[in-house]
Parts: sequence; C-alpha cells; structure tokens
Amino acid sequence: MVIRIAALALIALAACAAPAPVQEQTRATALATEAQIAAAEAEALSDDWLEWNTPIEPFNVIGNIYYVGAEGISAYLITTPDGHILLDGAFAQTAPQIIANVERLGFHMRDVRLLLNSHAHVDHAAGLARLQLASGAEMVASEADRGALEAGRFPYGPSEDLAFPAIRVDRVIGDGEALTLGGVSLTALITPGHTPGCTSWLMDVTGADGAEHRALFHCSATVAGQSLAPPAYPSIVADFESTLARFGAIQADVLLTNHPGMMDMDQRRARQVAGDANAFVDARALPALNARLEAAFREELARQRAAQN
Ligand SMILES: [Zn+2]
Repeated sequence: MVIRIAALALIALAACAAPAPVQEQTRATALATEAQIAAAEAEALSDDWLEWNTPIEPFNVIGNIYYVGAEGISAYLITTPDGHILLDGAFAQTAPQIIANVERLGFHMRDVRLLLNSHAHVDHAAGLARLQLASGAEMVASEADRGALEAGRFPYGPSEDLAFPAIRVDRVIGDGEALTLGGVSLTALITPGHTPGCTSWLMDVTGADGAEHRALFHCSATVAGQSLAPPAYPSIVADFESTLARFGAIQADVLLTNHPGMMDMDQRRARQVAGDANAFVDARALPALNARLEAAFREELARQRAAQN
C-alpha cells in the first residue's frame, strides 16, 4: 500500500537571466518506504521482462556518458566534477543492478545529484524509488508524467494495473528548460505521445578524438499497445504527430534510446570494443529510427481507426 501525503505548495520560480531558466517546485510528496521498495524488487518479472532485465557489463558510451542499464532496458550515468546525473530507473528489479554498475565503474551513488526519467511507464520508472533512496538525489520530471511517478502507477494502457514504488518528484521541468551541473547542460524536450510527459534530453558531449558531438536521450515514440482510436488521452494523436515531426528536425549524432535495441547497442558496442572509439557517433541513426517509428505509428493509427468502424 502506497502512503501518500497530499501535494502542496511552495513554488519558487527561479527568475534569472539564463535563456532557459529552470522552474523549481518544492513538494511534499512521499517516497516509497524501504519495505515497499524491497517488496517490489522481490516480485517475479514476466519471461519477456526477465530477459530485458539480464545484467550486462556497464561501459563508457562516449565522453562522460555511461551505460548502466540491463540488456533490454536502459539507464545512463552522466558524470561531472560536481556530481552525477542518472537517467531512468528501469524496473524495480533493475535498480540493484544499476547501483552495482555505477559503483563498478568507479563512481558512487552518493555522488548522484540529479535523477531523471524518460517517462513514467513501469519499465523505466519503477526502479527510481530505490535510486532516489540510495542517492538522495533530486528527482526531476515533467509536469505531465509527475502524477504517475508520485502515484506509483501509470493511469492507462498495458501497464495500468502494474503498481510501482512511488517517487518523490522534487522539481518539475518544462520544454526547453536546461539543467546544469558541473559544466554539463541537459536541455529537456517534452516529446509527448508515448506518454503525455515523455521527456527527451539534448546534451553536448566531447568524443575521444576531442570532437564535439550532440547526444539525444530519446524518450520514445512507439505506440506500445496504447489506444489511439479512441484516444487514450485527448491529444494523443496530435502529440505523436508533433513529436515525430520534432524528432525529424533534431540534429544529433549520438542517439541514446531507452531500449538499447533501438540504437543497435550490441553491434555498436562490439565495434567500440574492437577499437572504434566513435562507434556511437552516427548522424543517420536518429533519422532512420524516426522514419521507422513514424511508419509504425501511421500503420497502427490506420489499423485502430479501421477497427473502430
Ligand atoms: Zn514506455
């Protein structure tokens, strides 16, 4: 049972000269208890998800970006001299692996300052409570996905009956706002559709050869069994369309997805191990993924509309 304390109050708007000021909100929402988190971690995963959750060795993707997730579900560590940023918690059952991976790379959970989430589905959010407990980091989320994180349940679609440990959201971030830490700047792009608050992040990163690259932490734009017709939420179709158009216009040469298969991680990692330090640099990766996602969305929309008639 998830104990919730009513959300409140104190909204501190950071008015500063920066072009993309961060909106800070202090909230008194509850983080799940240690016992609730441990119980979620002890639950059995379905066979498909168990396979996604297979542990793999963490590694440096490029510059200060590390992969700390499992075989089929991503988590990324971005390191800075002033502390680290951790993106996504995967399943509750993945969180212990993520923590072990961070430490195995020589970093420490207590140095994680910011915790981010691509979106509030159980396979990307359920481990966040443990990561928040282990690090004491500030949890940053979009307004539209905040409620699901705080409730510990996404309200519709295939995962609507799957509760997860509730997360305390410390700060709400909006479209175009930047988070900065230790010389690293991450710009939030709210890319709705897959969830109403699906959040992608853009970040500049320096490669091993000293060249500058632009990384996109891609939220997702798969329909993933959700209802477009009738709409799961009123603007879902328009949101997918605008998000796909937006991804189509983004220039990024390092694509980092929240399921590693979507960025051909295994093949790129094999090339990296073989000596290609820029194995994850590929300006064609995002347009190619986006074309596949757009075609899949169009097909699924047509299928669901036809089934309605
Ligand atoms: Zn999802």
